[in-house]
Amino acid sequence: MADKRDYYEVLGVAKTATDSELKSAYRKLAKKYHPDANPDNEEAAEKFKEASEAYSILSDPEKRKQYDQFGHAAFEQGGGGYQDFNFGGMDDIFGDIFGSFFGGGGGRSSRRNGPMRGANLRTSISISFEEAVFGCEKELSLNLKEECPECGGSGAKKGTEPETCTNCNGSGRVMMRQQSIFGMMQSEQDCPTCRGTGKIIKEKCSKCRGTGFITKKNKIQVSVPAGIDDGMSIRVSGKGEPGTMGGPRGDLMVEVHVARSRDFEREDMNIFSAVPISFTKAALGGTIRIKTVDGEVEYEVKAGTQTNTRIRLRGKGVPSVRNKDRRGDHYVTLIVDVPTKLSHKQKAALKEYAKACGEDK
Ligand SMILES: [Zn+2]
Ligand SMILES: [Zn+2]
Repeated sequence: MADKRDYYEVLGVAKTATDSELKSAYRKLAKKYHPDANPDNEEAAEKFKEASEAYSILSDPEKRKQYDQFGHAAFEQGGGGYQDFNFGGMDDIFGDIFGSFFGGGGGRSSRRNGPMRGANLRTSISISFEEAVFGCEKELSLNLKEECPECGGSGAKKGTEPETCTNCNGSGRVMMRQQSIFGMMQSEQDCPTCRGTGKIIKEKCSKCRGTGFITKKNKIQVSVPAGIDDGMSIRVSGKGEPGTMGGPRGDLMVEVHVARSRDFEREDMNIFSAVPISFTKAALGGTIRIKTVDGEVEYEVKAGTQTNTRIRLRGKGVPSVRNKDRRGDHYVTLIVDVPTKLSHKQKAALKEYAKACGEDK
């Protein structure tokens, strides 16, 4: 991590680069280092990965902002399990850019027969306002696909083996020729006989019905970091779809929905609330009690406080999701409460007050 290159440096653009400058810089690098153009070249593969990562961050305005502010630390793994960086989204970029270079998905076919990482899964959880402020542990119950123990993932009946597809000779891909208005077009497609797997199962495994996978209920612990905000995602490593050909599992992305609070509003790390105070306290000053996420605190109101006065309770806001020792503030708007019901005694006292002000007419 320490010698990770600056993303702008990787793409060879200025910090002020526009979206189209970023895209064109990435296109150039991706074309040069793409694995299809550099088979078995580790260095090119590394460069390609580096450029793809840089582009995936800088092309997303929100992530770019975070990167500009925090550098690589913004996306480091292991920080309380929280990471808002999703490599799964890379497919969109491949689709977007390589569709035009390599003729529709051709760029992906070379990876088909090697180990492939499983897809990411997505789910969501709902937590309370306070749970978002202080963090919490949640347990999810989720059905996950697992390799079928009966057939070891082959999908073939116990004691039998899948056979190599004779239509594609096991490659899973076939060349299709099609008549089009431009003449004869040739394109590579998934083999229709084996549906791209390269294997034919004569007798299916009874436990998984030939799919090679079973689903199993999993209990998954999710550590929600303090300071998380509505709409953020937590990555749980290795709880996505299983990989194929020995590839690793994908990840589970848990989107967090934060419930609204009856007492507080939130904006990033700051909390806002309104507190009524009596008009005598506003005029004379005195101690009031204010509800915060840490419990009630006492506050000295100055004599002559006007309605809509805003006070700041330092450090009573929401912790930073990256560093829970850093907290925002709580802003309180004091609303002077004019009484609507007065007893005889109160009325008399106020009339006396009015007289003292010279407005007894
Ligand atoms: Zn086939
Ligand atoms: Zn099976």
